[in-house]
Amino acid sequence: MSRVVVALGANLGDRGSTLRAAAEAVAALPGVRPVASSHEVESVAVTLDGPDDAKPRYRNAVVIVDTDLEPQAFLDALHGIEDAHGRTRDVRWGDRTLDLDVVAVDDLRIDTATLTVPHPRAAERAFVLAPWLDADPAAVLPGAGPVADLLAALGDDTERVDEPRLLAEPTRASAPERNVTSA
Ligand code: ADP
Ligand code: MG
Repeated sequence: MSRVVVALGANLGDRGSTLRAAAEAVAALPGVRPVASSHEVESVAVTLDGPDDAKPRYRNAVVIVDTDLEPQAFLDALHGIEDAHGRTRDVRWGDRTLDLDVVAVDDLRIDTATLTVPHPRAAERAFVLAPWLDADPAAVLPGAGPVADLLAALGDDTERVDEPRLLAEPTRASAPERNVTSA
């Protein structure tokens, strides 16, 4: 069983509905159990040329799950959910109805042609760190440190959207059983 942090993003269509439907779809995958989810945040679109105010703004959120799936099989399942929401793959970092990224899998390091974990740009993205911290106040980015510290150093340029968390239950991550120590 692994604990996986999934980043969700959308800047086309009804972004909030897409993120909520995608979160439900991730949580409903066979071999997946939801652990926690964040509120939604909004931020300016970032392209390969930098921030672009003329582009539709992004909505982002994070869902944390436990799964029996191997990391690549889990990513393949995420791509299936992206496709179901009309995602087309043309411009890298282009506008999209739905982007699902694997941010972290336990404290594993993975580096294959199709999967790099932890996600190499997670530490530079407030739109990943802020919702991750919201879903799990004790979150740690493997190899980089506590998400709270990373976000404080980076500066949080995201705006919390006034909507409930993506998934009604459960609301917050609790430490995995094996990490629980009594005071
Ligand atoms: P981006 O998210 O960078 O805008 P895409 O969503 O189009 O780009 O993903 C491009 C490729 O990135 C995917 O086909 C996938 O194989 C690869 N990839 C590598 N590591 C990851 C990861 N941790 N999460 C999601 N995709 C990844
Ligand atoms: Mg992606």
